Amino acid sequence: MQTHNLGYPRIGSNRELKKASEQYWAGKITLAELLSKGRGISEQNWKLQQEAGIDLIPSNDFSYYDQILDMSLTVGAIPKRYNKVVLTKSNNELDLYFAMARGYQKDGLDITAMEMTKWLDTNYHYIVPEFYKDQEFSLFSGKIVNEFISARQIGIVTKPVIIGPVSYLLLGKEKEAGFDKLDLIKKLLPVYLQVLAELKEQGAEWVQFDEPFLALDIDEKAKKAYEYVYAEIKKQFPHLKVLVATYFEGLKDNLALATSLPVKALHIDLVRCPEQLEEVLNAIPVELTLSLGVVDGRNIWKNDFEQSLAIIDKAVEKLGSDRILIAPSCSLLHSPCDLDLETNGETLTPEIKQWLAFAKQKVEEIVTLKALATENPDVDVLAKLVQNKKAIESRRTSGLIHNEQIKQRIGAITAADAQRLNVFASRKKAQKDILNLPLFPTTTIGSFPQTAAVRNWRSQFKKGEITPAEYDALLKKETEEAIHWQEQIGIDVLVHGEFERNDMVEYFGEQLNGFTFTKNGWVQSYGSRCVKPPIIYGDVDRPKPMTVYWTEYAQSLTKSLVKGMLTGPVTILQWSFVRNDQPRSVTCNQIAFAIRDEVIDLEKAGIKVIQIDEPAIREGLPLRKKDWQQYLKWAVDAFKISASGVKDETQIHTHMCYSEFNDIIQNIADMDADVITIECSRSQMELLDAFADFKYPNEIGPGVYDIHSPRVPSRAEMVQLLEKARAVVPADQLWVNPDCGLKTRHWDETKKALIEMVAAAQEMRQEV
Ligand code: GLN
Ligand code: ZN
Repeated sequence: MQTHNLGYPRIGSNRELKKASEQYWAGKITLAELLSKGRGISEQNWKLQQEAGIDLIPSNDFSYYDQILDMSLTVGAIPKRYNKVVLTKSNNELDLYFAMARGYQKDGLDITAMEMTKWLDTNYHYIVPEFYKDQEFSLFSGKIVNEFISARQIGIVTKPVIIGPVSYLLLGKEKEAGFDKLDLIKKLLPVYLQVLAELKEQGAEWVQFDEPFLALDIDEKAKKAYEYVYAEIKKQFPHLKVLVATYFEGLKDNLALATSLPVKALHIDLVRCPEQLEEVLNAIPVELTLSLGVVDGRNIWKNDFEQSLAIIDKAVEKLGSDRILIAPSCSLLHSPCDLDLETNGETLTPEIKQWLAFAKQKVEEIVTLKALATENPDVDVLAKLVQNKKAIESRRTSGLIHNEQIKQRIGAITAADAQRLNVFASRKKAQKDILNLPLFPTTTIGSFPQTAAVRNWRSQFKKGEITPAEYDALLKKETEEAIHWQEQIGIDVLVHGEFERNDMVEYFGEQLNGFTFTKNGWVQSYGSRCVKPPIIYGDVDRPKPMTVYWTEYAQSLTKSLVKGMLTGPVTILQWSFVRNDQPRSVTCNQIAFAIRDEVIDLEKAGIKVIQIDEPAIREGLPLRKKDWQQYLKWAVDAFKISASGVKDETQIHTHMCYSEFNDIIQNIADMDADVITIECSRSQMELLDAFADFKYPNEIGPGVYDIHSPRVPSRAEMVQLLEKARAVVPADQLWVNPDCGLKTRHWDETKKALIEMVAAAQEMRQEV
């Protein structure tokens, strides 16, 4: 039996890589300094895993931006528009690499970045490979081999981790018509073989190919590609130990294919899909070693040793311990680095801390599990089992977790809880009378610029450098200015600006029971951007109103309508580390009731328009299509529970960022928000077609300008977009608003853009 790891976080325990990359981009450190930082992190990670006792330590899991972009550079899949970068920068590979990741505006060049998209169902984003009809591949970057050599120089023979060729192609995008990316496999494979030859030459014994698509819905052609690729690799390198890794889902209908590949080992995710163990054990041929992904790489809970040992024992019984590898469920890229760094007992109490394990601790768990699974574990190891049982028991029975009242409330949900009092058509009438809005009403999505000053106040407040009263006064002044300015330029439905919020999830989590926070639990989201998700450890409830104070204050300053601003239950769930001791749907319903109570309190405070943001509804979709409807049912219901406690005349908005709505439009309609605002401008209103084709009955605000760019759109541009919208959606259903919140923008561009936006709406009204 051996232990291995599928990948270790590369940001550094204190986000060293983030800081160094950003300094390099700003021209503050040299390339050599950045490279030495990167190398330092890799070495630290390798040594840490070696000292912990991991048998097969990964390499090439490090990346300066993204592992898929690394592969594009390795195989020379460099879009032609970057040719010039190479010429002007005398072949500096890393500059070319960053240009592909982030775009390039230097030396008179203006080259767009490659597209970025979510890595399967995680909050990590990868750079999408671009494929062209005349696509060629050739070995370009030596990163994989170089990293292997670096590790070997400090005495560690690593197991390089490489995105498998089939998954690599499937992750990419055909940038022109007339070919199928899978047909590129014959051109791509030789480059992979070349890398393998070099690795072998350098002394590599094991290579891990990540093939997550083996656990997804794939067609016959992809299946054939798998058979072809791994047969070729076997032919060329009969003695290389190839491990094929799957994760985030079960093999299911690909079981026969996966177990028939002529490789040394197969990794399966037994956290996400424990049910597959039985099937896999029955199907696995004698030549194949099985890697058991038992330690959760996606969440922060301590492993339940007894449960994992039961799995390991079962596998050992069937296969013998020689054919077993013990591993995390997936790469630890998705876990924060080190729980030992969490020393702030106020937010993360010792009681809760003992329930958790971050990457470093997960590595130790894997090693301990192997020791426990051997015939005669020594006393120290047995002591760890006892300790683990205690921690698991402490969590199971803790008074912090369970709240009978909430459980009863969730247990008693009825259909009526998720239903507004009357249908949209009657609500629309009631709202019309009360709200008195013009055609093409204008609004914004919630946040206004979080200037350096605002962020500075918050940090001073947190450090105790200014008093709560001073902080409050500063925020009030900022809010007041925002309200008066919106009034002045003639926006119809105002927002208070969200100046008091650090983050749209954290702000609510901090006020809800059942949530806790880390000081340093960062996880890479993309490039140098990291997120620090809250931890939901217990039953969620709302001890007191969360947003009424600020919304009421803002409303007191104006006769115009002020829109209350909340984050929806699915988004709060989706952007947190969640409980693994109950279904996600149950946690989501608990959050839904907390938001529902908030909505009701806002209504009581006289707020007539309330927005419940759900930008993450779509990203919660399961990886396998057949599971979609089940998820959408509870997700949509949770939203409806949060929205349905109010009178007909209270107008509920929801907001969603860039997503395709075509295949889920019925579910979006089922959410039954009175108004939905969506990000639309970058697609030139194309995203609206799904609503138009469906004859979506409620009101819609398609974004008329891109908030991701400082560029100020012209009135004519926005009018043109609105005309496009009116051509497909009746005028009395349309709202006018930006794509998303304006938090990351500056005030001057925001002001200019919104003045033009209001003028565009006025122009539309005159045309009617
Ligand atoms: N109300 C939030 C804001 O304006 C919405 C953010 C989002 O959709 N991501 O910032
Ligand atoms: Zn948004």
